Amino acid sequence: MAKWYEDEAFANKVCKLVYDNYERLGKKGKPVAGREWTMLAAVVAVFEQEQGEGTKIHDYKVELISLGTGSKCLGRNQLTSTGNLLNDSHAEVVARRGFLRYLYQELENAYTSRQSIFITNEENHVCSLKNYVSFHLFSSHTPCGDASIFPKGEDSTMIINNAKRKNVDLNDQDCPSSKYLCVEELGQQVEDQCQNERNFCENVQDSDLQNQNIGTGSDIHRTGAKCVPDGLQDAHDLGSYYHNVGILRTKPGRGNPTLSMSCSDKIMKWCVLGCQGALISHFLAKPVYFSSVVLGKCAYDASAMRRAVSERAGAVSVLPEEYVVTEPRLLQGEVEFEHSKRKTEEMNGEGKGEDKKLTASPSAIIMVKNPLLLEISVNGLKQGVTKANRNSQKSRLCICKAEFFNQFKKILALVPNHQLNSSPTTARTYKQFKNEAVQYNKGKEQFRAVFNTWMEKPTHLEEFT
Ligand SMILES: [Zn+2]
Repeated sequence: MAKWYEDEAFANKVCKLVYDNYERLGKKGKPVAGREWTMLAAVVAVFEQEQGEGTKIHDYKVELISLGTGSKCLGRNQLTSTGNLLNDSHAEVVARRGFLRYLYQELENAYTSRQSIFITNEENHVCSLKNYVSFHLFSSHTPCGDASIFPKGEDSTMIINNAKRKNVDLNDQDCPSSKYLCVEELGQQVEDQCQNERNFCENVQDSDLQNQNIGTGSDIHRTGAKCVPDGLQDAHDLGSYYHNVGILRTKPGRGNPTLSMSCSDKIMKWCVLGCQGALISHFLAKPVYFSSVVLGKCAYDASAMRRAVSERAGAVSVLPEEYVVTEPRLLQGEVEFEHSKRKTEEMNGEGKGEDKKLTASPSAIIMVKNPLLLEISVNGLKQGVTKANRNSQKSRLCICKAEFFNQFKKILALVPNHQLNSSPTTARTYKQFKNEAVQYNKGKEQFRAVFNTWMEKPTHLEEFT
């Protein structure tokens, strides 16, 4: 057997593992068959194993760490300063936040001398990942935002046919279906892509990308994610004039615009600063990077994905020690998600001959294997929350900021003298502890120097204790 990156079947193994786990979950929180659709994402771990004494035969096993389905994000008017709400409920974000719960669990194991993926340094008490484990992000679909903008080619035939069948109004930018899902609307004929290329080059200042041609004379896939307010805007003209590429975007939300960056942008940030976030970086010697991003069968373009996820990030320089712009392997499996929009449309079309209205699932599933957590999210809180207990601890999801802060404080209490390599802390709030992650914030400064229109949530929303 080979290492995971030498194994041609790796992407399909990841798809199968994630879909099998999803199937076993039962119906709660899943879309209503034939009427609703969703997206699925997961984080999986690869454990390298050396087999046989004195031999060099390698093998690996893939394990599911966390899984999430997607629903719409909360608009900026709905955000609160309690840390109780999950603002961004896209599948990739849910899966990554579930992964953070796993990291907290493993840190607890390390600091209490139980078996863990981390080893602790006796002197400064920070943890390092053992070298036999790597983490991989799976998504059933191309991430929203920049990765979703690409020419329609032969591989996308099924999507084009679908859009034609549904007679999508291409000029109606406000139709609900174009507001959430990426890669599903039909663009129009491209006649000239000079403007796009020019805008793109101005934006990313990367000469290697200047020859990139996103039109190739065909239609383009679009994204529902909107350009950040202070950056270059989309022209919304025909064909490839519609979008600019390589730029930062925010997600559409319920009712009003969100402050949540698109999944393409977030994944790119994880390639620079790691996917562990500021709080967990306090405990780690190095950031944690995803080694690959694996997609299920969906409309996909390898060069758009590369541009969105790693090439754009190449402009970030002078990162602090241990931080590096990482290029995850970008892979695609051949298995389609059973509750994808396309499959649901197909199923709906095969129904009683009448087109029922399809909607995105209003709920999202959050599942973590260890610690074992399974919750259903609706509007950023647990399903079934009543108005009376909206602000209570019972209503919040295991992956909201307030719960992460509790986890953080619990781990900090396990560190000898409650102190890491930095000087004694005066921090009290969630935001203050994030600000004290020195190396992470140095990296973030460099990141922000390039991506200076990145949307940040107002500071007061993170000043809870
Ligand atoms: Zn997304």
